Formats: sequence, structure tokens, C-alpha cells
Amino acid sequence: MALAYQNERNLALKATIAAAQLCEQVRQAQTSQAFIKPDHSPVTIADYGAQALICHALQAMFPEDAIVGEEDADILASPEMETCLAQVTASLQSWVEGVKPSQLLDWIRRGKGQSSDRFWTLDPIDGTKGYVRGDQYAIALALIEKGLVQVAVMVCPALPVQFQNNDRKSPPDTIDRGVAFVAVRGQGAEALSLVDGTRSPLQVNTISTPQGFQLIESVERDHGTPQWQHQVIRTLGWEAPPIQMDSLAKYGSIARGEADLYLRLPTGASAERRENIWDHAAGVLVLEEAGGRVTDRWGKPLNFGCGSKLLDNQGIVASNGQVHEAVLQAIQDSAIDYQNPLS
Ligand code: AMP
Ligand code: MG
Repeated sequence: MALAYQNERNLALKATIAAAQLCEQVRQAQTSQAFIKPDHSPVTIADYGAQALICHALQAMFPEDAIVGEEDADILASPEMETCLAQVTASLQSWVEGVKPSQLLDWIRRGKGQSSDRFWTLDPIDGTKGYVRGDQYAIALALIEKGLVQVAVMVCPALPVQFQNNDRKSPPDTIDRGVAFVAVRGQGAEALSLVDGTRSPLQVNTISTPQGFQLIESVERDHGTPQWQHQVIRTLGWEAPPIQMDSLAKYGSIARGEADLYLRLPTGASAERRENIWDHAAGVLVLEEAGGRVTDRWGKPLNFGCGSKLLDNQGIVASNGQVHEAVLQAIQDSAIDYQNPLS
């Protein structure tokens, strides 16, 4: 019997890899500087180009499917963004020759759809700050049906194909970079090297050596609470210094056994913020299919059936599975020092 969701998987992979190439081309053309959106978050020509390219591909093959993506076309369509719109249009020419700015705006608009029984969620560049800095970022696309992620692809163009312990110290041009993480529910997860096409099944770290377990967290300190996150791993007796990494690539790192736990424990003003579905959906399925586990800080599974945000959930705990219960306990035990319970 044919495997389920193969058309969705293959199209998602092809479209996200094309978008990743677009992002790298924009960087090489030195047009990857960021504009600041009204919500103070950054956006680049590559974010818009990647969203347009992927929405165009999805529309051609799955015209009935809604897409809930990050970017909005309104700012780009404004008169003061005319030069930027021309640059985004130019960035797409290698894939869709002769594309017009109006078509491109329509494709981006298509990515601002409503969630329904079956829809895609798209982050054209997760970790835009990392992309602009020259660090990690991911193009993430997931198919959600009845609140469950069924197909997931995340492409991490800057992630080393082989794990590099001292990545930041190695000369960047000596390392092969570019990994696509792919998963279909019930079919496992795999990594695909963008350098030579090698495919490897993904499996979380199964060694039970707490001293060597590795925490991974955001580079941006205000996307979580580093002091609390570090207190949790101290309680558990983990000795390795935490790794900081931008984007959904963190889920990929745990899925391939390089890290064991990703904590995103918001406090203060951020505690009331709810996560966007596109910032997590693809990573969650990749990690679960590699043997890991993802919940919120209270141990609740993430509910992707509440619209564009994870309204039912607070914080993120993504792990290799075996450490999960102990981590949840350590979070509750240390919570009083950092955070009031969910109101
Ligand atoms: P990361 O690279 O893991 O730091 O995550 C990047 C994502 O963090 C972006 O796509 C934003 O949607 C999200 N983000 C922005 N501001 C905040 C915040 N104050 N707290 C948590 N996440 C945020
Ligand atoms: Mg994002």
C-alpha cells in the first residue's frame, strides 16, 4: 500500500528547499538587511520571497488548502516599500520567470489564510534575527489536520551537515552546511543533506548520562528566561553548558541527538504571550517522529487546533523523551522563584 501524504511531503520539501536557495541568494546579493514591522519584529526581502514562492507552489498543487503563514502583504504593498517590492520580485525570477509584483503580492496574501480542518502553516524564515546576523534560521512548513501536525519539513540552510561541537570557532567555509528535516506522522523522521542528498533516519539521544545531557535555548534572551532554564538543568545535575541557537533548528538538533532539551520558559510580560503555530509545528512532528516529546511547561501536548496561536499552551518543553517527566517536575519545583502560575 502506498504511504500516506507522499504528495504533500514531496511538494513541501521541494518548495522549502527552493525557498532556502532564494534566502541564500538574497544574502549573497547583500540585500538581506531587515525592515522593522509595526510589531517591532524584523522582516527581509527573503522572508517575503520565500513566503511567495512556497504559497505559489502550494496553490498550484493543493488549491483547496488554506495557508496560515507569518508574513502579511500590506506593508510590502505600501508606496514607500516600492523599491523593496521590486527587490522581492527580482529574487523570485530564477524560479518563476516573468513574475509581476501584483502576482507576488497575491501569493503572499494567500499565506494569510484562516485555519480550518486541514491547512498548512508556514514560517518563511524562522529566526529572521539569526538570518540577518549570519547564524541559524529555518524555513518551516507543516500540514495540520484536525489540530494534529501530519507532515513537517524544516530546512536549515546554515546548519552543519555533521554536528560541530565548536561550530562558532570553525572557519565557516570549511564546514558543509544545509540540512532538511522531514517527517510524516507514523512514518518516522529523516535528515536530508542539502550538500549531497544523503538521507539519514533521525533518532534522539538514547544514552542516559545526565551529566552529559545538553540544553539548547534561544539566542534571544527575552524569548525565554535563561536564569530559570539554567536552574532547571542544575537541579537535574546536567553539567554541559547550554547551547544557544536561533530558530526551529533547535528541534532538529534534539531530533538528531546533539541536544536533549529545548526550554522556552517565558516570564514577565512575555508570560502572557502565546506562541505562533508556525514557530513550532514542523519542529514538533520532526522531534516526535525521532522519538522525542514536546509539551508546554505544564506537560500539556501542544494544541494546533486553536487558530494561529497556541492558545491552550504556555512555554515549550521539547526533549529526547526520556528526561521529560523529570524536567517538568524541575520546572514546577523552581517556578516560584521565577514565575507565577498561569492565571
Ligand atoms: P528563536 O529563534 O527560538 O528565538 O525564535 C524566534 C521566534 O521567536 C520568532 O519567530 C518570533 O515569533 C518569536 N518571538 C518574538 N518575540 C518573542 C518573545 N518576546 N517571546 C517569545 N518568542 C518571541
Ligand atoms: Mg518565526
